[in-house]
Amino acid sequence: MQLDLSGRHALVCGASQGIGRASAIELALLGADVTVLARRSEVLAALVQALPRVHDAQKHGFVVADAGATDALRASAEQLVAGSPVHILINNSGGPPPGIVAAATPAEFLDAFRQHLLANHVLAQAVIPGMKAAGWGRIVNIISTSVKEPIPGIGVSNTTRGAVASWAKTLATELAPSGITVNNVLPGSTHTPRIEQIIAARARKSGSSEQDVQRAMTAEIPLGRFADPAETAAAVAFLASPAAGYITGVSLPVDGGRMHSL
Ligand code: NAD
Repeated sequence: MQLDLSGRHALVCGASQGIGRASAIELALLGADVTVLARRSEVLAALVQALPRVHDAQKHGFVVADAGATDALRASAEQLVAGSPVHILINNSGGPPPGIVAAATPAEFLDAFRQHLLANHVLAQAVIPGMKAAGWGRIVNIISTSVKEPIPGIGVSNTTRGAVASWAKTLATELAPSGITVNNVLPGSTHTPRIEQIIAARARKSGSSEQDVQRAMTAEIPLGRFADPAETAAAVAFLASPAAGYITGVSLPVDGGRMHSL
């Protein structure tokens, strides 16, 4: 199986922690030059030093940008590709705040759409010309299993995720003739700072302990545990690899079997 990404440049968003960080590490282990993007420069600078280098020519770097600031994000991405075309784009950002959809404000929807759909879109627009020139490209969007089954209590997130999945499927069809694949990874419960916030919020709301909330969530997972971020990142890296060249337009749950749908 051909997994080598030497000579490929990957842009990994939301990479300062969690699944984004783990994805940056997996792509570096496959030989890619990795640019990590998030908001905190000190964290990114330290990550760039820590990223694996499996061959001498491998170079890593970082871009400081806020996924919610659409015009500045677009400008940062255009500046990056002017220096070095991006062949692999990993779209990822923090999940929108929780809350039932009936209570959501227009501003909350707009914030979430900006940080996810519009961020993914302007980044894709910036990198696609370089991918087309190379005749090869990979776009992987980290979304959520809520694409398959909306999750109670995160209404704005569910709505936004559905839009991102639909955008991605449309883009996959448009870009396939150019040798560019577009796929989605749908994490289930994964050990990251995000899941700790979700557990704490559910415990506060229900009056249960955080341990009880985590036990109840784990009971719904056939594999009987949360994922390690590296396991989610392995799926991201595979979809970014040459080996996944005939896979496009799919949404892959990495959820320990929690989705009941076929
Ligand atoms: P996380 O919150 O631990 O990490 C999110 C990353 O995005 C961080 O690096 C953060 O700095 C960055 N980020 C947040 N807002 C940003 C912004 N405005 N601009 C730039 N960067 C920003 O999340 P995670 O657990 O790694 O999850 C990644 C994605 O997968 C999220 O969208 C999350 O909702 C989704 N997801 C996670 C789980 C889970 O169990 N962890 C389950 C389902 C879906």
